[in-house]
Amino acid sequence: MKTRQQRLDWAVDLASLDMDTITPGDLLNLRLKLQEFVSGGLKEGMTINDLGGAFGSVNQKPQPEEYSLQDFQKLVKRVGGLLRNAVLYEGKMVGVKTPTIEHFFAPAGGQLLVIVGGSTEDVFLHKLMQLLQLEGADRLLLCPLCRRVFLRRGKRKYCSRECNNRSSYERWVERQKQAAE
Ligand SMILES: [Zn+2]
Repeated sequence: MKTRQQRLDWAVDLASLDMDTITPGDLLNLRLKLQEFVSGGLKEGMTINDLGGAFGSVNQKPQPEEYSLQDFQKLVKRVGGLLRNAVLYEGKMVGVKTPTIEHFFAPAGGQLLVIVGGSTEDVFLHKLMQLLQLEGADRLLLCPLCRRVFLRRGKRKYCSRECNNRSSYERWVERQKQAAE
């Protein structure tokens, strides 16, 4: 996750993760990714916008590395609901509460660092909002087949190759039926 697009892709994909199929190995990877998303630092070639406009710091439990399956389930459910509302209720305001968020300023080496602190969930949501704003929230789309929210890439209408294939197949079946009538 180096660019802000990669970060946003990961966060949006997380929202449609099937938590019933998570193995212990997957859980470890998810924790690492979550930690990188909320409180990862700058690597070579990255700017602060790649991190979502500010550094993140989790100052409450559970920390990303302590996230349990239940914690992830809660996060996935909340983010999924939020993204769906953001796509479905065009023209309406959708509220996101992040009650633990605090901003910190840290002068360091002649520069002023801005750090967003709070719970893992709140820092996650804060960063997601910032990334959506930076990347363009109009890239969020709802898959017409499976109702998953995904980020538009090119002219794709469906969330995945599976949905695209399913849709082509269904259209083909429809044409066969019509031809037979
Ligand atoms: Zn789909």
